[in-house]
Amino acid sequence: MHLKTSLSEALSTKSNYLKLLNEMGLFTVEDLLLYFPRAHEDFSHIKPVSELKEGEMVTLRGFLKGIKNERTRHNKFITKAVFYDEWGAALSCVWFNQPHLTRMLPVNTEIFISGKVQFGFGGLTLQNPEVEREKEAQIHTGTLVPVYSQHDLITSKWLRNKIHPLLYLAKEFPDLLPSALLECEGLMPKAMAVREVHFPTSEKTLKEARDRLAYEELFLIQLRAVNSKKEWQDSGLATMNTRSISMDVDLVKSFFKSLPFAPTGAQKVAIYEILKDMEKPFPMMRLLEGDVGSGKTIVAFMAMLQAISAGFQVALMAPTEVLARQHYHTVQKLWEGFLAMGGVGRVDGGRADDYPPLQMLIGSMKTSERRPILDGLSDGSISMVVGTHALIQEGIHFKNLGLAVIDEQHRFGVKQRDALLAHGAPHILTMTATPIPRTLAIVAYGDQDLSVLNEMPPGRQTIITKIVPPEHRTTVNRFIADKVGKGQQVYVICPLIDESDVLEVKSVKTEYERLQNEVFPEFQVALLHGKMKSSEKELVMKDFAAGTIDILVSTSVIEVGIDVPNASIMLIEGAERFGLSQLHQFRGRVGRGTEQSYCFLYTNSNSGDTYTRLKAMVDFSDGFRLAEIDLKLRGPGEVYGIRQSGLPELKMSTLSDGILVARVRKAAQELIEEDPRLEKYPLLRALVAKEE
Ligand code: ADP
Ligand code: MG
Repeated sequence: MHLKTSLSEALSTKSNYLKLLNEMGLFTVEDLLLYFPRAHEDFSHIKPVSELKEGEMVTLRGFLKGIKNERTRHNKFITKAVFYDEWGAALSCVWFNQPHLTRMLPVNTEIFISGKVQFGFGGLTLQNPEVEREKEAQIHTGTLVPVYSQHDLITSKWLRNKIHPLLYLAKEFPDLLPSALLECEGLMPKAMAVREVHFPTSEKTLKEARDRLAYEELFLIQLRAVNSKKEWQDSGLATMNTRSISMDVDLVKSFFKSLPFAPTGAQKVAIYEILKDMEKPFPMMRLLEGDVGSGKTIVAFMAMLQAISAGFQVALMAPTEVLARQHYHTVQKLWEGFLAMGGVGRVDGGRADDYPPLQMLIGSMKTSERRPILDGLSDGSISMVVGTHALIQEGIHFKNLGLAVIDEQHRFGVKQRDALLAHGAPHILTMTATPIPRTLAIVAYGDQDLSVLNEMPPGRQTIITKIVPPEHRTTVNRFIADKVGKGQQVYVICPLIDESDVLEVKSVKTEYERLQNEVFPEFQVALLHGKMKSSEKELVMKDFAAGTIDILVSTSVIEVGIDVPNASIMLIEGAERFGLSQLHQFRGRVGRGTEQSYCFLYTNSNSGDTYTRLKAMVDFSDGFRLAEIDLKLRGPGEVYGIRQSGLPELKMSTLSDGILVARVRKAAQELIEEDPRLEKYPLLRALVAKEE
C-alpha cells in the first residue's frame, strides 16, 4: 500500500461510500490523508457528571444501563439509556432513529462516552453521543479529536475510522519545501504535519502542523505567481520586441498643465511607478487599485500618452459597452485638452497633431463600421483605441501595441490578459475599484505589481449615509420625493431579479412597479436589469443621463457605470445582503455633482451583526477601510467571491497574517532568483507547471 493506492483498494468499504468519496474529490490514499479536519474537539478532560454545564463538549467514563427503544408521536425511534459515572452520578442519553443501538451498545461495562451536553428530556442529556469501549483504540475519545466536513454517509466518525489506520503512510509524503527553508522558518516535516493535523499529540503540535501546512499552501501560490510573472517578463524578451519606453518628464509636465486640476500625490506616485516600469525591457504587469472616484483614468491616460509619444499603439479595454463609451469620451476630452495646451514635448520627430485618431471598437458595431478600424489598427494609422472584449477577438491585429490598459480587471480572466501576449507582449496596466487589502492582493494578484491610489481628490463631498429600518421608510420616501421635486435623480438598487420565497427579497420588477404606482406616481421611474437587451439598457441609461428619468431601479448585476452628476441619492434595498465593498461601490455612484448626496440603506433585518456591518458604512467613507472591516467580519471567500477575485481557495491559511504572507512571498522570490527553472526542486517545478 502506498499514497497512490486507490481508495477502492485501500478501504474495505461499500461502493456507495466510494462513490460519495469520489464526489468529494477523494480517489487515492493521498487524497484522503490530505482531507484535513476543519476543527478539533478537546475530549482530553474527563469530567464527573456533577460538573457538567449545558453546551460543553465532554468525555465521560462510566457505564450504561437500561437501554431501551421508544416510539415518538411521529413514529420515529428514540433510544434511551442512563449513564453512570464512577461516582455513581446519572445522566440520561438519547439517540435518534438508530433502533439497532439497543443491540450494539454495551451495558454494565466500562465505556467512554462523548458528545455535547444539552437540555432536553427533562434535564441535562447527551444527545447522539459516541460510545467506545476502553480497549478499542481511543481515536474518538479521550484526546483531541478531529472533526471533518461531512458529506452524506461520510461522517466525521467514519472518516476518523478510515484515516487513522492509514496515517502510517504519511511518512511517504515528500517535503516540497526546500530543507533550508524548513530549517530557517522552523517548520515541521510534512509527514509529521499530516499526522499531527489529523490526530494531534497536543495543542502545540496541532498548531505547528497547521502552520506548516498553511505555509506550504501559501508558498505554492506565491511560487506560481512569481514564476508566472517571470515567464511574462521573459516572453517580452523572447519576442525580441522590447517595448522599453523612457519616461519623458516634459510630457508629464505638459499633461499636468492641461488638466483643470492638480493631480493628487497618490496619482503622481502611481504615474511615476508606472512610467518607471515601462522603461524596463520586459513587459510591465501592474495593477492600479483605487477607490471609485480616486482618479484612475488620468493615471492610465498619462501612461497611454507616454506610449503613444514613443510611437506605440495603445488600447484601453472595459468590461461593458457602457463603460467603453464613457472611457472613449473621457479619453477624447483629455486628448483635446492636451492638444489645446500645445501638446507634447518630444515625439520622435513628429508633432502632436500628427497623432492619428482615437477610435472605439465594441461588439455591437456593424461590420462596415469595424472594417476601417481593424485596418487602422493593423496598418498603425490608429494609435489609440478604446473598446470591450472586441479588442482581443480573433482577426484583430495591432501594428505595434505598446500598452494595454484593462479597466475592472476582475471582470476579465487571466486568459484574456494572456491573449494580449499574441500582440507582442505589450505593457499591461490593469485597474480595479475594488479596494483589496494589500495582503489579499498579494495572494490574489501575486503576479502583478501594485500601485495604490489611497487618496481622494480634494473637495470630494461626504455622502450622508443612513440605515433605514422599515418604520422610517415613509419619512425617507417623503424626503426623496422632495429632492426629486427639486430636480435631483435617484438610483434604487435591489438585490435579486426574480421573486424568491426563500430569500424574501423584493424582486426588482415588483419593486419597480410599486415605486412607480404607489410611492412615486408623480415621477418618471425606469427599470434596468441584466436580462434586458443591450440596446434597451443603453436607451434607459441615456434617458437617465439626460434627466428624463427621475428614478432608476436596477439590479446589482447592472454596472450603473454612467457618470450622472445630477444623481444625488442612492437607495439600496435589502442592504444586509451586500458586502461592504459592494455597498461602497454603489454609494460611489452619487456625490459626483455639487448637490449634497445621500445613501440610504434599507433593511428589514434587526440582527446586531447586520447593524454592526452597516454602521461601518455610516462611519467610514474609505473603501480600503471598509474592505478590511468586511474581511474581518466575513472572511475573504464571502467578501470577494473566491472565483470572481481570482483568489485561490485556501484550506489552511488565514489571510489576516500579513507578515506571514509577506515572508512567504519573499521566500518564493528568493527561490526563483536562486534557481529560476527550479532544477533542484523537480517536485515544486511539477506543481508550479501543473496549474498553467
Ligand atoms: P475612477 O478612479 O473611479 O476611475 P475617475 O478617473 O473617473 O475615477 O475620476 C473621477 C473624477 O475625478 C473625474 O471627474 C476626474 O476628472 C476627477 N479627478 C481626477 N483626478 C482629480 C484630481 N486630482 N483633482 C480633482 N478631480 C480629479
Ligand atoms: Mg473608472
